[in-house]
Amino acid sequence: MKFRELPSVDKILLNNDIKPLLEQYSRAWVTSIIRVVLQAARLDISNGSEPLTLDQIVQLVYEKCIELVCVRPMKVINTTGVIIHTNLGRSPLSQDALDAMESSGKGYGDLEFDIKEGKRGSRDTYILDLLKYLTGAESGLIVNNNAAAMLLGLTVFAQGKNVVISRSESVEIGGGFRVPDVIEQSGVRIKEVGTTNRTFIKDYENAIDEQTVAIVKIHPSNFKVMGFTASPDLPELVEFAHKRELLVMHDIGSGCLLDVTRFGLAYEPLPIDSVKAGVDLVFFSGDKLLGGPQAGIIVGKKSLINRMASHPMARALRMDKTRLAALHATLNHYIKGDVLEKIPIWRMITATSIDIKNRAIRWKNIIGDVATVKSAYSTIGGGSLPGETLETWVVAINCSGFKGGAEAMSCLLRRQDPPILARIEQEQILLDPRTVDKHEEDTLISVIKDVING
Ligand SMILES: *Cc1c(COP(=O)(O)O)cnc(C)c1O
Repeated sequence: MKFRELPSVDKILLNNDIKPLLEQYSRAWVTSIIRVVLQAARLDISNGSEPLTLDQIVQLVYEKCIELVCVRPMKVINTTGVIIHTNLGRSPLSQDALDAMESSGKGYGDLEFDIKEGKRGSRDTYILDLLKYLTGAESGLIVNNNAAAMLLGLTVFAQGKNVVISRSESVEIGGGFRVPDVIEQSGVRIKEVGTTNRTFIKDYENAIDEQTVAIVKIHPSNFKVMGFTASPDLPELVEFAHKRELLVMHDIGSGCLLDVTRFGLAYEPLPIDSVKAGVDLVFFSGDKLLGGPQAGIIVGKKSLINRMASHPMARALRMDKTRLAALHATLNHYIKGDVLEKIPIWRMITATSIDIKNRAIRWKNIIGDVATVKSAYSTIGGGSLPGETLETWVVAINCSGFKGGAEAMSCLLRRQDPPILARIEQEQILLDPRTVDKHEEDTLISVIKDVING
């Protein structure tokens, strides 16, 4: 059998190219990787392949060891023009937020300690004061993410009971993840009302029974129903619910704190508008249009928030100190009014066409003849502002002379250090400067040139 032609574990361990690994990592760990590689090599042989040589195996062992110890998630350059890219970690953080994470993670802090009084304190008092100011709410609570926030709210107020949701809002938010499924995990029964495009107060009215405790409103954040549509205004819905002694819980998704219509974009629900309309509890994410770390933020009536905060599940879903610090620093930008300069996603959303075009031209000039500059569209992404696009300029790389075409070049770009993620359109690789930080530009261009020139 050809298995015998494979080198032994001991022989591989003695190879010169394995030495540097043994200097850095334990022998037991390197040995375990060698075994995995040899196992795969034997499988290949039984499937009819020729046995790998010692050099090939050493190379595979080396690559696998390095791949496993690289800290993940690792940095990538996003030239896709999708600003809040869920697969790429949603919102990049501001420098202030990063500094806050570092300082809170480095040593001890007053996380749950009242420094002035010298006794136990609460972990989010200061943040909540900012949130109350920014949303007009009586109180708030921060948990791990928006899904956790919904889970907590529904568990505390609706477990074993019914809630009513409009059919047009029963949404899947990506990755096969459906908001109604999260709601049902809280032991809550959902009654869907209305139709996909139209829901009226009378539909809610008909669905309510003695088991109903709340109306749940969900912002359909990643799609748009156009044309013949209807849904009650928020104040109207709240008035109706309160008359029937029902709570209104509003999942607004993105948690945008700026009125985006002033940038020519469609209206995106603001927490302050829901609070003003009288909604009891408003739920949103920290890492979408807010531009901060992953977080689930709940604002609303103080008595309700207090009940949620003292529920055992709140402890299981709480935030860690580094992300709390980042969230606080992010909210500070809204207080100071430097959001558009300091928060990366807002810098990207409001970048001017002329600035982007000038960057694209500069890139093209360095990359050379295979590149052209053309107009295109960037998108917001991350289940925010569906269908809204921003006019942009991209560098288009002609791949007709590249072996394997655009698909092969894209694959090669993903395997660089740092990996480069780009869009393919009509056999061209498109590079959108909008989602590339100015500090990443030189690296990006030199990697692109290396790939093009082989
Ligand atoms: C994104 C989104 C969620 C989930 O938020 P996470 O912070 O990712 O848990 C829930 N509801 C809506 C409407 C969303 O857009």
